[in-house]
Formats: sequence, C-alpha cells, structure tokens
Amino acid sequence: MTTATSEPSTGRTPGRAWTVRLTGYADRSASVSCTTPGCRMPPRSKDIAALRAFAAEHAAVHAKVARVRPEATCHCRARKCTAHPQTQMPCAGAVVLIVRHDPVVGQVWSVEEVCATCAALTPNASVRARAARPAPTDPAARPAKTVPAPAPARVPGGFSSPGAGAGSDGDTVRRPRRASSGRTRQPRRGQGGGHGR
Ligand SMILES: [Zn+2]
Ligand SMILES: [Zn+2]
Ligand SMILES: [Zn+2]
Repeated sequence: MTTATSEPSTGRTPGRAWTVRLTGYADRSASVSCTTPGCRMPPRSKDIAALRAFAAEHAAVHAKVARVRPEATCHCRARKCTAHPQTQMPCAGAVVLIVRHDPVVGQVWSVEEVCATCAALTPNASVRARAARPAPTDPAARPAKTVPAPAPARVPGGFSSPGAGAGSDGDTVRRPRRASSGRTRQPRRGQGGGHGR
C-alpha cells in the first residue's frame, strides 16, 4: 500500500518541461514542433538533417534561456519517474535542467526541470544548467551535491545504454556525471558459511 506522495507541497513551483519533436510524414518530409506556443519553427521540409539539427539546437536554447528555479519541484517525479522506471529513488539534491534525447526514438528532445537525483538516474539525459546558488561555490567545479542517499538498488544487466547514434546529430552529447557511486550496502553474511571445516 502506497500512500499518495504526489501532493504538491505548498510554496514550491512545479518543475517545467519543454518538448521539441520532429514529426515525419509519408512524403519523407518532416516538421519540428515545440510545446511552447509562440516558438518559431522552420517550415516543413525534406531536409531532415537540418530539421534535426534545428530541433536539437532549439531544445538547447530553451535549456539555456530558462533560469533554473531552486524552489521548483521535480518534473520527473511529477510524472512518476517514468523516465527511469528501473531505478526508483527519492528526489534529492539541487534542481537542474536536463535535456533528454533518446537516440533510439531520435525525434524527441525534452528539456526538464528535475532534481539532481533523477537527472543522474535518467538515461540519455545531460545536465545543462543548475539552479543558482546563493553561495559562490563555483558550481562548475564540483558535480551535484553528494546526496546522502541509501545505496542505490542497481539492477545489473537491465541498464544497457545504446551508445550508437548518440552523437550523430552533431550535438555534443555529454554524459551525465554520476554524482554518487557510494556503496554503503553491506553484503549480508547469513548462515555462517556452509563449508567452513
Ligand atoms: Zn520552443
Ligand atoms: Zn525521477
Ligand atoms: Zn526527482
């Protein structure tokens, strides 16, 4: 039995998201759309490579101009963490802005305001911006604040990342830094070893 934890906490703004999508048509043309009304899109064209580059760039621009709000709640959490269903952890850490692009799908770029933990767990996501901190501690120097989280229940084998085509769209895809690789899990030694004599 899970108690509903999705109640919007008072005083916090929900994390935002932008989605840029490349839609193909039967005549081998395509068009780009953005969830933000008012964004100017190029006309439908058969130059898919150019449209793809535009879409990636457009998502990057959204990530660039959006100011990450430290009080924002995790957008990933708002969607029940469906972006990383295999690894569920409580949201923690500073708010970051990620661009998520699945090279398998290849047609969707998602810009999302999420927590640092979800950002690290989400495949194909790269952190583009972090919430401005009051203390000038050079956020570029140190990765996301080490989250004092319990040992990640990592599922071995279920974490394959299709590396092919990740950087084929001309955009440098930066691997998300793994903030915490803390292994605090202790192997349970039960039954005291069967063959110790
Ligand atoms: Zn847009
Ligand atoms: Zn999440
Ligand atoms: Zn989160």
